[in-house]
Amino acid sequence: MVNEFKGFSGIQMIDEGAAEAASVVKQTAFPAIAPVAEPLLQPTDPSTVEPGDGGGAVNKVVIVGSGPAGLTAAIYAARANLEPLVIAGAVPGGQLMLTSDVENYPGFPDGIQGPELMDLFRQQAARFGTRFVDKDIERVDFSQRPFRLWAGGVGYGAEAVIIATGASAIWLGLDSETRLRGRGVSACATCDGFFFRDKHVAVVGGGDSALEEATFLTKFASRVTMIHRRDEFRGSKIMRDRALKDPKVDVRWNSEVAEVLGDDVVSGLALRDTQTGEIHEEPMDGLFIAIGHTPNTDVFRDWLEVDPKGYLVVHDQTGTKVEGVFVAGDVHDHRYRQAITAAGDGCRAAIDAERWLESVGLTEAATSTAW
Ligand code: NAP
Repeated sequence: MVNEFKGFSGIQMIDEGAAEAASVVKQTAFPAIAPVAEPLLQPTDPSTVEPGDGGGAVNKVVIVGSGPAGLTAAIYAARANLEPLVIAGAVPGGQLMLTSDVENYPGFPDGIQGPELMDLFRQQAARFGTRFVDKDIERVDFSQRPFRLWAGGVGYGAEAVIIATGASAIWLGLDSETRLRGRGVSACATCDGFFFRDKHVAVVGGGDSALEEATFLTKFASRVTMIHRRDEFRGSKIMRDRALKDPKVDVRWNSEVAEVLGDDVVSGLALRDTQTGEIHEEPMDGLFIAIGHTPNTDVFRDWLEVDPKGYLVVHDQTGTKVEGVFVAGDVHDHRYRQAITAAGDGCRAAIDAERWLESVGLTEAATSTAW
């Protein structure tokens, strides 16, 4: 599970292809971004300026996020001649960048490293003309079209937007947990459970996710120890019963992980009793953290609906309450959270965006042959 990824390769970044990108954007038939009461945010540091698209040119589609959903949307949008711009984030690639072996993504019978898979996605998107800005999205204005989005202090115009910013697993926040991520520490049993055949693993959390992960892990592990900070689970009765009835599952109540032990791989846990503060060590081969996810929706909340847990609310498959703004992947889907489901969702959002652009007369109809 050692991650040997060396970084993205062979991809034309918007910085590198600035002149070309600028001409591509400026040749579009769309009008310059409409004058607005408030000017586009001016960059304070000239080194942060992304040449080409900033400062007023309007993109047909801007995709926010560069995990499987965002990059699949980019592949489809680029192949439909929409010349998408991806605001990829300062750390591009999404959650798969934190995963080592991926063995459930179809097409890779021998498995593939998560970062390598995202590199391939990105190369494929770049091949058809996708442009990338590796900056975090800072804010958006969906009050009128063209929409406006800011990243790295630069404003970008967009006729259509696809939001694919994903959700981030919540971690415990221990240095040892970070150091051993992908080396026995994981936040996804579906992704990594297979590597713990006949091993003893721990699952932290007391909600449905933790109960589900623990039950799933019994297919592989010889023993699954749940670690919960209180003396009762938060999860639903049916999930509690299913987990607790399994002879492979036991529970450390009133316990939290004080430290993950191990040099190169997880070898044990230091557990703290939440009532007495006492710490003891237990040998362990793996640690699954299942204490929830946070959807990356902060910058969109002024414009779009979110559910009580902060996930974007989708209308009519991939749409939102703002016409022209589409959603894909874990940023709205807290049920499946898989690379393959996110990729499928990105495809759907791109098709919907392209058809919508056609329907409002912003692009010529080409859909039937473009895919
Ligand atoms: P959740 O319900 O918020 O539960 C998080 C759990 O992690 C809680 O037990 C919480 O402890 C614990 N926790 C939080 N922070 C912690 C920390 N720093 N250290 C130790 N423990 C910590 O999250 P979830 O389980 O991911 O579920 C999210 C939503 O998805 C829920 O609505 C759930 O029903 C749903 N879901 C459904 C299914 C299903 O139906 N198949 C599967 C998964 C999730 P406390 O209890 O003490 O707060």
